[in-house]
Amino acid sequence: MREPSFNEESSFQYKKGKLFCEDTSISQIADEIGTPLYLYSHRALVSNYERLKGTFRRLSPLICYSLKANANLALCRILAGLGAGADILSGGELYKALLAGFPPKRIVFAGVGKTRQELEFALREEIFMFNVESQGELELLEELSRELDGRIRVSLRINPDIDPETHPYITTGLRENKFGLEMDEAEQLYLKLKDSKNIVPKGIHFHLGSQITTTRPYLICVEKMGKFISRLRGEGVNLEYMDMGGGFGIAYREKESPLDIEELASQIAPLIQEYELKLIMEPGRYLVANAGIMVTQILYEKRRKEKKFLIVDAGMNDLIRPALYGAYHEIKKIQEPKKASPMELVDVVGPVCESTDFLAKDRSLPRSQRGEYLAIMDAGAYGFSMASSYNARLLPPEVLVRGEKWTLIRRREGYSDLTKTEATSLEEENLIPSYPLPFAKLQGSGNDFIVVDNRANLIKDGRSLAMKLCPRKTGIGADGLLLLEESQGADFKMRIFNPDGSEAEMCGNGARCIAQFAYLKGIVGRRCRFETLAGIISCQIQGRQGRKVKIGMEEPQDLRLNLRLSLKGEIYEGHYLNTGVPHFVLFTPRVDQVPLKELAPSIRNHPKFRPQGTNVDFVEVEKGSALKVRTYERGVEEETLACGTGAVASALTSNLTCGIPSPVRVKMKGGDLFVYFERAKDNSFSQVFLEGEARLIFEGKISEEVENA
Ligand code: PLP
Repeated sequence: MREPSFNEESSFQYKKGKLFCEDTSISQIADEIGTPLYLYSHRALVSNYERLKGTFRRLSPLICYSLKANANLALCRILAGLGAGADILSGGELYKALLAGFPPKRIVFAGVGKTRQELEFALREEIFMFNVESQGELELLEELSRELDGRIRVSLRINPDIDPETHPYITTGLRENKFGLEMDEAEQLYLKLKDSKNIVPKGIHFHLGSQITTTRPYLICVEKMGKFISRLRGEGVNLEYMDMGGGFGIAYREKESPLDIEELASQIAPLIQEYELKLIMEPGRYLVANAGIMVTQILYEKRRKEKKFLIVDAGMNDLIRPALYGAYHEIKKIQEPKKASPMELVDVVGPVCESTDFLAKDRSLPRSQRGEYLAIMDAGAYGFSMASSYNARLLPPEVLVRGEKWTLIRRREGYSDLTKTEATSLEEENLIPSYPLPFAKLQGSGNDFIVVDNRANLIKDGRSLAMKLCPRKTGIGADGLLLLEESQGADFKMRIFNPDGSEAEMCGNGARCIAQFAYLKGIVGRRCRFETLAGIISCQIQGRQGRKVKIGMEEPQDLRLNLRLSLKGEIYEGHYLNTGVPHFVLFTPRVDQVPLKELAPSIRNHPKFRPQGTNVDFVEVEKGSALKVRTYERGVEEETLACGTGAVASALTSNLTCGIPSPVRVKMKGGDLFVYFERAKDNSFSQVFLEGEARLIFEGKISEEVENA
């Protein structure tokens, strides 16, 4: 099989003037999920693996994908599914390899600094081979193996002192490098292992370095190791495996040639056969590098006399190879440049506060401008896997493309990811201040809320904080405290605490307020989904400052029409419905004249609604199919200016009893709400939406004194 030349057969090609990955337009993905982003081609990954496997077919090697190149689970799963094994370097990589489905009997473990815990983990999982790098590591393995019944397979990693003819920072097989054992030392250790009860010397391991583009270093090393193995056999140490590591180089630029794996296979095959060895290889870059690109957008242009800077939204924290090794990545415009496009000399630089933050230096590129997308080619290996959050930048998302389809295989980080492992709570760690604690005050239809971004989990006890902050004389004053928290399955979670400290399942006005808050703080876009105790709420945010918020409500439950209550000798008829929280709706001709204060508390506590009680809504149907509604809210224990779930309960029951059609305008003291819904023949409701305004009133800081309030 012939090695593909640069870009030939590439999964990244221009079609109709745009760069495509397979059959998917890259700019469409970038428009949808933003940049920077990493993007991988399924086809390229599979064909890289199949080509390698096919080329070495006659030796049937165990191909162990080196996870350090890119440990994304989705990519690992694809390779595991193709029959690859895994080369790991840490407990974390072992964890990911197992999760991705690499069978333990195809996992090899290298690394100069394996800890006791990592070795124990790998022993428990009974991995195939420990590639031991020092005498100390071997002694520790001996010690750990005594507690085990099984026999442990070991290869010693040899430092062959061979120049791989690559970048000095990525050589590993030279004496001056920290890796492996010198041959004399290894020989002594192999001889010692003959007497070991639990450790079986099975093979020999070496890894010369990375991005090696000539076969010579491999050939020299395989010959050298072959002879070494023969000598050891003469001394009674029978090794079966030769693990030749990875390092197979690719062509990062047009004038380069990749490692000729065909030539490599034909050169080493006779030696492997002569020494009757089984071959293991550990390719990383070769499998994933050209299967992936990074997409970035030009933020600004800056002109200097001698050159131009294109400042892009990806930095050295996203792709460190240029900064670390001066590595070259071809850069393509996503919009195909016209044949006659003028070229210009540019530095493509990122937003990070370092002068080494560049993706290309003195590069001749077709003229580009602000807003355009650029593809940083061949970024699939040592791209995301070396990315960091330096400058508190968010790790980019990763996307997998297969034909016309694409899927997010890692979401973009949010700000809360930056603090998720940090200790931030006063209760947990007295040295760390939680105060002053920023809050915002919002109101929706006259229902007012204190909203706190609690994604960093500063507030452990929302209940007591609500009791301190909600009173209007001694606190901030509000109908409730809303905490915006992390969610596993949605954009965020809303927790809502009443002034008496009780936690409510849901509140329509609160939901609108928290959605506007999340929008204003850049936590979500104009569409979002958030979690409440009453389920997931979907939400559309419209208008200036995101003031008009339409939220999808849970489908109503427990409808009981014409429920009769007896109170102090009188009968009251109404309709019960749970719209996230329970409501009892009573129709009345003159809502303003209802003695709400006297009536509502006894309905709220009526035995029929125990133990949780109910909210109470008094509804007047106006001409023109609008409703006038007054609500007594449980938890607040008085009439509030408006209640979202009450508006929904009133609208739905008025549709059932008086045929009022969707959308229903619900007038409450605090303002108007609109309820949208669809009613099925069996009287069930779906597509229930509540629309109304939310407003940010002010922001401030809660002081430590709140603890003493
Ligand atoms: N095996 C070992 C032991 C390594 O250290 C490395 C990379 O550093 C590899 C395999 C993979 O190298 P490459 O990605 O160049 O194939």
